[in-house]
Amino acid sequence: MTTTEVRTRFAPSPTGFLHVGGARTALFNWLYARHHGGTFVLRIEDTDLERSTEESVEGILDGLQWLGFDWDEGPGPDGDIGDFGPYFQSERLDIYREYVQKLVEEHKAYHCYCTPEELRQRREESLAKGDDPKYDRRCANLTPAEQRALADEGREPVVRFRSSDEGKTVVNDLIRGQIVFDNAMLDDFVILKSDGMPTYNFAVVVDDHLMKITHVIRGDDHISNTPRQIQVYKAFGFPLPEFAHLPMILGSDKTRLSKRHGATSVTEYRDNGFLPEALVNYLALLGWSYSATDTLFSEAELIEKFSLDRVSKNPAVFDMKKLEWMNGVYLREVAPERLTELVIPRLQEEGFIPEEIDATTRERVQHIAVTLQSRMRTLAEFVPSSRYFFTDDVEYDTAAVNKFLYQDHIPEMFDLLIDRLTKTEPFDETHIEQAFLAVQEQVGRKLGDVIQPVRVAVTGTRVSPGMYEVLAILGRDRTCHLLNSAAKMVRHNLSVDSQ
Ligand code: GLU
Repeated sequence: MTTTEVRTRFAPSPTGFLHVGGARTALFNWLYARHHGGTFVLRIEDTDLERSTEESVEGILDGLQWLGFDWDEGPGPDGDIGDFGPYFQSERLDIYREYVQKLVEEHKAYHCYCTPEELRQRREESLAKGDDPKYDRRCANLTPAEQRALADEGREPVVRFRSSDEGKTVVNDLIRGQIVFDNAMLDDFVILKSDGMPTYNFAVVVDDHLMKITHVIRGDDHISNTPRQIQVYKAFGFPLPEFAHLPMILGSDKTRLSKRHGATSVTEYRDNGFLPEALVNYLALLGWSYSATDTLFSEAELIEKFSLDRVSKNPAVFDMKKLEWMNGVYLREVAPERLTELVIPRLQEEGFIPEEIDATTRERVQHIAVTLQSRMRTLAEFVPSSRYFFTDDVEYDTAAVNKFLYQDHIPEMFDLLIDRLTKTEPFDETHIEQAFLAVQEQVGRKLGDVIQPVRVAVTGTRVSPGMYEVLAILGRDRTCHLLNSAAKMVRHNLSVDSQ
């Protein structure tokens, strides 16, 4: 028995950024192809000349690359890659026209000269009478002479597909099962516009056929287009591909995911400090599951385990909290060198480190990044939580200052600590700890009562990684300087209060 090679495709319209829904569709197509050792095709559906932009194409390619969804055929750095191109629909117009012509010759499509204005009027009249507002097939059987006369009036025709309105069209969807559409619902839809551009429902069939796509996996917003497409397949005598419509993605309030729910573009997630591997893992769970308990999957595991029969028909809910949690899990696994590369541009943007950095700065950044690594859920959290390592002007949390610093014994305790730390040699975690223990004994308090005020004094907040580690990174001079400023601030404040 010969099995056909699996060929899937992602076919975005470049009219905006790559959004989460599109990325999920791309992922499922990519996983399906990779799982079966097949081919993943990227086709750019840019026939809407007004809304398609070069920028959007770039953004989509960039987003897919960042997520790691490499395509085997499609746009490449120096032109198209693959034997079934071009992969930009705007470069395939001759092909569509040729296929339209075939249907016209076989009386399966016809020229329609009705103007948009006439169509609108007739639609309104039908609606007012309570009739079906679909196209009334006025041009379905024009003679050549009638066609010429209409063209002579300066009318520019569209081409309409002659739909069958009897019987039913059955979609055997791999996810949703059998869906039956009544053909009476279909109208003679336009396949070629008056400007010579094909419509989506036509071009998609011609391309999926010519590109030998075996599995059409896409969002379920295209379900209602599928019977139209099936009729076009049948009109040409093309074999049908398999169809799989992915469940909708909802926001937390159970309405379709949109801007209102937060970031929807893949690039925004990158900017907000998410790792591609975390986003990929999370997107895989939007509609697919392996078991009730398994949630963390490496790319290799996803490829190995992915199957369409584990995709649910029910809508998936996008849960930001879960994505953040997952990102934190992946972030903890990131190797120090990569982590450093990831945080450097963020620190530069904030002005915490210069554009040109030397080996010492890089090493210091790495040390800080590793110290904070386990506390971050996103890379974006790194900048605010590492602030005190890079700037002297501490942002004090007022409540923490009132609770831990404004106490009579604090300035003197800080003086004692400064004294010890000045003599601490080397200035490393172990020796810093000894200085703290000595001061704790001297003042007769619990260790926490020394550490917590110091933490507030140097970081401005009550949470940070281990204090000795933080101070070792800060270095002796900055530590003593910050303790000194805090002691002064407390003395000043207490003396003002007592006046
Ligand atoms: N260009 C269409 C879209 O972005 C493709 C739909 C399909 O996969 O057939 O929605």
